Amino acid sequence: MIFQRQKDAFGFSLRSELFFISEPEAQTYVKGQIWAENFVPRAHWEARLPLGIDNYFHYDGIGVIGHHTHWDRCFDIVDCIKEVKKVQDYHMDGNGWWDVGYNFLIGEDGRIYEGRGFHIQGAHCSGWNTQTLGFTIMGSFISDLPNSRALNAAKQLMREMEKRGFIDERCWSFFGHRDKGNTTCPGDRLFEEFKEWKNFHREC
Ligand SMILES: [Zn+2]
Repeated sequence: MIFQRQKDAFGFSLRSELFFISEPEAQTYVKGQIWAENFVPRAHWEARLPLGIDNYFHYDGIGVIGHHTHWDRCFDIVDCIKEVKKVQDYHMDGNGWWDVGYNFLIGEDGRIYEGRGFHIQGAHCSGWNTQTLGFTIMGSFISDLPNSRALNAAKQLMREMEKRGFIDERCWSFFGHRDKGNTTCPGDRLFEEFKEWKNFHREC
């Protein structure tokens, strides 16, 4: 799968639907496509519209970075949507970014909430956004682990990234945020868990 940076080759429409046309295959991708039962597209959590768009070459994506929000945990769709909205508001109104920074947000309800999605450069780890996709597990995981529903959803998400070619299935690397930034994210306990996961710190 090859994506090219062609400013006039993609369009932006309202209601959080972004259409991407890749060259030379001229395939069209629709943001918000429900690819799993536990996937919650932006329209379902009533995301604010992004203030702009950014794009990048996905075929040089070298991996994935895992985060925690360091905020509240959530265990059902009502509370998780509140959290996702809180993060988006903070990133847009507090940080002045054009959208929620993460590509995906995961709740302990086992759902994967669409942030910027697969196709768009995230704002989740300075210096690494053009090379990695970023997900966060909502909550603070310094001494506690997220439940298995959240952990399984994160693994499911990375399998999907791999399957669709957003990370190179032949070799990609998984990092915790602290590997690439001056931060304690994703929390000591969750970082210990990440060390056991597929492709953690893999050299490619
Ligand atoms: Zn982080």
